[in-house]
Amino acid sequence: MKKIIFSNLFILSFPFLFAQTIKGTVEINMKDGLFNCNFELHNIPQNKNYKILLNKGMNIKYFKDSNGNLVDFEGHYDGKTKGEAIEYTLLDKDGKTLTIPTSFQVDYRGAFPIYFDNTEDYGPFDYKGIIAFNGKTLRAADQSKWYPTLYDVENDKLIDKYPYEVTIKVTNSENNSIFINGNVPQKTLSEHFISTKPSSLFIFIGNYDFISQPAGYIINLDTDNKSVARIFKNIEAVKEKLANNLNLKFTDKIYIINHKAVNRRRPGSSWAFNDYPAIAFTDLNPAKMLDDKGQFEPWYSKFLGHELAHNYFGTHMLSGKLSWFWLESFAEYLSFNVTEDFGFNAFLKESLLSGAKNVESQNFIPLSEITEMSQINESYRYILAPLMLKCFEDTFGREKTNRVLQSLLEYAKKNTLTLELFDEAAIASGIEAVDYQKFKQTYITSKDFKQNIIAQIRKVYGQS
Ligand SMILES: [Zn+2]
Repeated sequence: MKKIIFSNLFILSFPFLFAQTIKGTVEINMKDGLFNCNFELHNIPQNKNYKILLNKGMNIKYFKDSNGNLVDFEGHYDGKTKGEAIEYTLLDKDGKTLTIPTSFQVDYRGAFPIYFDNTEDYGPFDYKGIIAFNGKTLRAADQSKWYPTLYDVENDKLIDKYPYEVTIKVTNSENNSIFINGNVPQKTLSEHFISTKPSSLFIFIGNYDFISQPAGYIINLDTDNKSVARIFKNIEAVKEKLANNLNLKFTDKIYIINHKAVNRRRPGSSWAFNDYPAIAFTDLNPAKMLDDKGQFEPWYSKFLGHELAHNYFGTHMLSGKLSWFWLESFAEYLSFNVTEDFGFNAFLKESLLSGAKNVESQNFIPLSEITEMSQINESYRYILAPLMLKCFEDTFGREKTNRVLQSLLEYAKKNTLTLELFDEAAIASGIEAVDYQKFKQTYITSKDFKQNIIAQIRKVYGQS
């Protein structure tokens, strides 16, 4: 009886995409660049047209079903790749593709090169998909697919965020710390980590220290206390601005990670990637983040404004065909407000105008005609749709726009967000129905919606 109650609760808390969970053990040899992994995936939604993706450097020992029986699979011979991964599908006794079982187990080992830090032992490139050992630390983000990722072919949808339960054991490392996304870092060689929230399994492991603050952690940054205090003061300011706009407490801890690039880079340059709530930078330099008064430079206020907005418009929004709109466009729109609230109006104006210019020559389908998640591509979700929301704010005011966002957050607790719910939220915010309909026809449903958005942005913020 208890069991039934528990599983009902579980379904209620992850009603849409995140029924699937991952459990397992991971052993990492830091000196030799070796992974030894065993994972179980559970509660996988039924799907005939799927791939199991795993980094091409990982060699599969076996797949097993929930009874512990071996399952044949395709992909080990003449396998197709997708990005950094090889695609696998499970086969039945006759060699036909199996509908993905609700649970399965996979066991594999991987070996990766080590780019020795400080010895000019570089690779030709570096990006988020690299599994980067440098003799001191290991960085492996979600994009590397170092852990099994599911790909829903029909909907072109990656499932790489899971509630997880993972034991990580590390060998051949001194003064070792372990970070796995969504958990506080631990100074240890072995630890069992649990996240009830869906998260990527981005890991950063090795010989480093971290600094804990109420807002979160700075990981592997050798800097003075004054800089740390200033960075966190700014992070607190970003959090406060978001919380004020949405009238909702900021709850997540933030992890700022400093790591090394594995390729040769121009001295002083840095590249960043984000995998909320973790944000990683190569060669993070506090002096470049902060101005003379100890305030974030405009770029960082906007960047962190977007990232921290995922505290609200987070992975639980990844549901339905407008998933990317709810997740990314609203975070980007909120980053405009953070930038403005910091007083960086000229920078914001420049960003809005360059965004308008960027999307000018591209084609987009009106939001009301979107049928598949993938139609909201990166330009759509990060540039055009946020500009539409900016037009909404410029038409109806910040206060009413904030009220719309608050309603959406409330609806998202129970429902997949839809344009109909957006309409409902707009009316509930106090906007006259006739005014909202006019806006919707011009900037959301019209076949000229893109041009209308660009024209409005240029009208308000000037030509670029
Ligand atoms: Zn984002």
